[in-house]
Amino acid sequence: AVVITGLHKSFGPREVLKGIDLTVPRGEVLCIIGPSGSGKSTLLRCVNVLEEPTSGTVVVDGRDMTDPDCDIDAARRSVGMVFQSFNLFAHLNVLANLTLAQRRVLGRSKADAEKVALANLEKVGLAGRGEAQAAQLSGGQQQRVAIARALSMDPDVMLFDEPTSALDPELVGDVLGVMRTLAAEGMTMLVVTHEIQFAREVADRVLFIDDGKIVEIGPPSEVIGNPQQQRTRDFLARVL
Ligand code: ATP
Ligand code: MG
Repeated sequence: AVVITGLHKSFGPREVLKGIDLTVPRGEVLCIIGPSGSGKSTLLRCVNVLEEPTSGTVVVDGRDMTDPDCDIDAARRSVGMVFQSFNLFAHLNVLANLTLAQRRVLGRSKADAEKVALANLEKVGLAGRGEAQAAQLSGGQQQRVAIARALSMDPDVMLFDEPTSALDPELVGDVLGVMRTLAAEGMTMLVVTHEIQFAREVADRVLFIDDGKIVEIGPPSEVIGNPQQQRTRDFLARVL
C-alpha cells in the first residue's frame, strides 16, 4: 500500500501540493486526472521521493520514504516509474537496457538478469526483440521496453506519468494493453493519464486533482460517470 499523509510541496514560494491525504491499497489501480499544472507529476514524484516533500509523510509498503533514517535507495527499488519520455539508453540494445539496473543495483548475475528480462519482454509483447537497438524501435515499443525494465526490478508499486502522451495515436493501444494486463495481475498502480476511457475501464478509483488539492476521489462510475463537483464537471467537459 501507499499511504500519503498531510503532503505539502512547495517550489520556493509556490505551493504546488496543498495537503494530500491518500491511501492506495495493495493491488489497486488509481488513475489521477486533472488540469495541466495541478500537481499530478509532483504528486507521483513525491511517492518515490524524486521530489522531497516540504511536509507530510509517504509510506510505501510500511517504509517511510520521508524518514531521514530510511534507506531511500532500497525503498525506491520497490517503486517502478514510467515516464512520458521513455528514457532508454538509445545506443544499447533492449536486453542491455533491461539488465543494467538489475545487475548494478540488485547485484543479479548476467544469466539471472537476462532470464528476468526475457520474461518481462514477453509480458509486454516484445519477445524476440532483445537484440534490437532501443533507438530503432517505435515509440510504443520503446515505452513497452521501459515498462519491462521497471518490472524487471520486481517493484511493489508502479507509477506511470502520462505514459502514452508522447505516442502516435496508433501506438497508444499496445501500451495501454500492457497496463491492463498488469492491472489484471494485481499490480498496485498510480497512473497519471489523459486517457479517460482507460481510467473508466481499468481504474478501481479515479482521483481528480486541481490546484494541488484532491477535489474528488472514488470509483470511475462516480468521478467520471457522475461527478459531484463543478470543477470536475468542467474538466471532464473539456477533455471528453
Ligand atoms: P501537466 O499536466 O502539465 O504535466 P502536472 O499536473 O503534472 O501538469 P506538475 O508538473 O506537478 O503539474 O507541476 C505543478 C506546478 O509545479 C506547476 O506550476 C509547475 O510549474 C511547478 N513545478 C513543477 N516542478 C517544479 C520545479 N522543479 N521547480 C519549480 N516549479 C515546479
Ligand atoms: Mg505532469
